[in-house]
Amino acid sequence: MTQKVLILGAGYAGMMTASRLERLSTEFTLINKNPYHYFTTLLHEVAGGRSTPSNYSVPLTDVLDKPTTHISIDEVTSINRRERTVQLRSGQNEPYDFLVITVGSVPEYFGIPGLAENSLVLNTLDSATRIHQHFEEQMEAYTQDGDMRHLRIVVGGGGLTGIELLGELLDLIPELCARYGITEQKIDLQTIEAASEILPQIPNRLRSKAVGLLTQKGATLHVNTRITEVTAGCVHLGDNQMIEAGTIIWTGGVRANPLLTDAGFTADRRGRAKVNQFLQSVDDHHVFVGGDSAWCDGENGTPLPPTAQMASQMGHVIADNVVALISGNAMTTFRARSLGTLASLGREVGVGTVLGVPVHGVIGGLFKESSKLKYLWELGGIRLVEKKANQVI
Ligand SMILES: Cc1cc2nc3c(=O)[nH]c(=O)nc-3n(C[C@H](O)[C@H](O)[C@H](O)COP(=O)(O)OP(=O)(O)OC[C@H]3O[C@@H](n4cnc5c(N)ncnc54)[C@H](O)[C@@H]3O)c2cc1C
Repeated sequence: MTQKVLILGAGYAGMMTASRLERLSTEFTLINKNPYHYFTTLLHEVAGGRSTPSNYSVPLTDVLDKPTTHISIDEVTSINRRERTVQLRSGQNEPYDFLVITVGSVPEYFGIPGLAENSLVLNTLDSATRIHQHFEEQMEAYTQDGDMRHLRIVVGGGGLTGIELLGELLDLIPELCARYGITEQKIDLQTIEAASEILPQIPNRLRSKAVGLLTQKGATLHVNTRITEVTAGCVHLGDNQMIEAGTIIWTGGVRANPLLTDAGFTADRRGRAKVNQFLQSVDDHHVFVGGDSAWCDGENGTPLPPTAQMASQMGHVIADNVVALISGNAMTTFRARSLGTLASLGREVGVGTVLGVPVHGVIGGLFKESSKLKYLWELGGIRLVEKKANQVI
């Protein structure tokens, strides 16, 4: 009898699992909220208006088109491990023999009062579009009432997401100012980071280059600064300091989708489900967990970071291991390979390391662009590269 394989979520891990299972001629059902896969790592470009939002997604059926593939557009509301079923928003119950959970993450607000209610986040295609529309509305509002708060933008978090967004906004400002007849110098763009430095993933020497470039373009970077509360239009920093801003965006952290803790999986403090070396849940060997949903220790014993790079690599191994389990073969141990970290600092330049080699400036930007091609190639081969490359590069 055919074993029923269910994949939850069509992000980096889920799509890589699905496309590999197709190549291995294995039947499966993929359940995802949307009929498309979006490029989360490029959402800052959508927020910055670099290109139209539809260019940053691909219909699931453009990548997955085998007759043995079943796609269901629905939202998973809970997982019943005892009965081996998944409950969907539509009211349906989906049974499984093997489950792959790759439902990504949600923002981590660290219990900061008012932060969730009074800030925008950058985590879906819709949220990125909303951020872009919000800037336009603030510019428009300034032309009506002259209130300088409309021109102040606060980005909470100086990690990869926050800094890539900052770089993109700095490149957007001249364009928007010209359109609304506003002097560029009036825009006040600030980043608030609680740690002692921004971009902790990259070497010191490169970090100072990034700081130099961003501040030269007009951003103010606050480090060692904690957000203590956010109220409507106001970021509170302790010591009675506050910044009033028309735009407040939170990029300070993520935690795993709550579906995992709700289903009772053993989880870390970020809600990620603990997996073994084969990426199976330590609680249930019929369940694989990948991407931002997985608590997977690297070779040095520390948990792997929630990145698309890791999610894609995990997806590949999960597919192989699902097939191995079904056919009674030995499974593959997951070994993470870090190819480096690259942060774009606007439309043309980037900074980071590639296979341990430091890169910055236009070369860094070029490597960042080529990483988009690499991903398209891995996911959908030459067909996807031909279709999307000229839209996102
Ligand atoms: C702006 C930005 C820039 C980034 N830059 C980089 C970078 O340069 N390099 C890098 O490696 N990483 C980067 N990341 C991190 C990276 O995007 C994530 O680590 C990666 O997307 C995780 O992949 P995933 O498959 O676990 O989840 P996701 O890609 O988030 O996919 C989860 C999927 O599950 C679906 N889903 C969620 N809940 C449900 C539900 N209840 N029912 C049905 N479907 C559901 C979602 O719609 C989505 O399709 C960046 C993130 C952001 C936001």
